[in-house]
Amino acid sequence: MTTPSQHSKSRVAYYYDGDFGNFYYGQGHPMKPHRVRMTHSLIVNYGLYRKLNVMRPAPASFNEITRYHSDDYINFLRNVRSDNISSFTDHMARFSVGEDCPVFDGMYEFCQLSCGGSLAAAANLNRKESEIAINWMGGLHHAKKSEASGFCYSNDIVLAILELLKQHKRVLYIDIDVHHGDGVEEAFYTTDRVMTVSFHKHGEYFPGTGDLKDVGAGSGKYYALNVPLRDGVDDLTYERIFRAVMGEVMARFQPEAVVLQCGADSLAGDRLGVFNLTTNGHGKCVEYMKSFNVPLLMVGGGGYTIRNVSRCWLYETSIALNLDVSDDLPINDYFEYFMPDYKLHIKPLPSLTNYNTPEFIDQTIEALIENLKQLPFCPSVQMQPIPDTSDAIVKSFDQNLRRDHQNDDVRNTQFDKDVNIEDAAEFYDSREPEVRNTFSGKRQASPLLAEDQKKTRVDGE
Ligand SMILES: [Zn+2]
Repeated sequence: MTTPSQHSKSRVAYYYDGDFGNFYYGQGHPMKPHRVRMTHSLIVNYGLYRKLNVMRPAPASFNEITRYHSDDYINFLRNVRSDNISSFTDHMARFSVGEDCPVFDGMYEFCQLSCGGSLAAAANLNRKESEIAINWMGGLHHAKKSEASGFCYSNDIVLAILELLKQHKRVLYIDIDVHHGDGVEEAFYTTDRVMTVSFHKHGEYFPGTGDLKDVGAGSGKYYALNVPLRDGVDDLTYERIFRAVMGEVMARFQPEAVVLQCGADSLAGDRLGVFNLTTNGHGKCVEYMKSFNVPLLMVGGGGYTIRNVSRCWLYETSIALNLDVSDDLPINDYFEYFMPDYKLHIKPLPSLTNYNTPEFIDQTIEALIENLKQLPFCPSVQMQPIPDTSDAIVKSFDQNLRRDHQNDDVRNTQFDKDVNIEDAAEFYDSREPEVRNTFSGKRQASPLLAEDQKKTRVDGE
């Protein structure tokens, strides 16, 4: 663990691939990978990239992605294309691909980059090369072992946590996306080595899971925490509940690494979101978690008003670096997106009512603290050797790790070219008219501990 003074000069690794912004879910689809390229353009034009250890990750291999996902699901993602969909009709239904999660050109390569970035970032933290590692291409928290969901096909976060478990006894996952982090919660629902904490809108909202009463099962009972919120959460309310809950989680669980999913659809004015956070309030979560000086992996997630997504993730990159950045945006490749004010920070929407009354927040905090009191102050795993099952996972990763590292080094050079050849040709309209929004359906989580999930359980039994 580093001291505060060391952390103030923190080494921050940043993973990005210049091709990522070219992926396109299709006309009218709210998920736009282009927002990651906009973020990158701000990182370059604010000069932050000079302070970052910028790396282009190796695309995740089939074997890496199937450390969590099932082989038949990933084989399907690899083989289906827009011109052969008709021969995959059964698979499309079985793996929930088609509507919210359409088949698009390069879909598998998109997954490889998203997962490759988070895997490389986790490996970087394992090697203690950085205090913080960032992958804005990742954070796709809804993907299930054998199912696409909520615009997510592969769960880079689950893969990254599995990677971190090789070197860290306990890993904490925090999710500040407006939607419940159901895919990550499900993967680690029965283990006490990973604690998941999700803050989200709950009630008649996608994905429908994440009730206060859902706390984990088996060895993982009380190692899943859900913070259900109502429409219109503002900065002060969010900060109060976030600090109250996360302060207690850090004291009780004492994680050796933290993964923070920074979904930006919790910002005011998001095309699909219902919260009223500003960039400042969203960033307070990053500031607070950084203050614990525990190795931190930051990933992206949702975010559908893309000018605000890039503002948010630029600002949070600056927080990771302890650098103050001007509220006046620099000239960048996508400057016209930021009209009319061309400012970094966004304001709350005055028209939005905050339905999270002080009484509701007090009651929620009280219930969550009661759950946390069920945890021992020193989790039992701290006094035990890492279980054999985890050792096996660790061993199977080692070879790939070395390969990733080599690629990172090689690709540093490639990146330097990318910085200078940011192509502005792609321009996806962030203000295109609203289209049919299927991202509001309600579904239940898959049954826990189903036979096919046992392969990836890491509950140490
Ligand atoms: Zn979301």
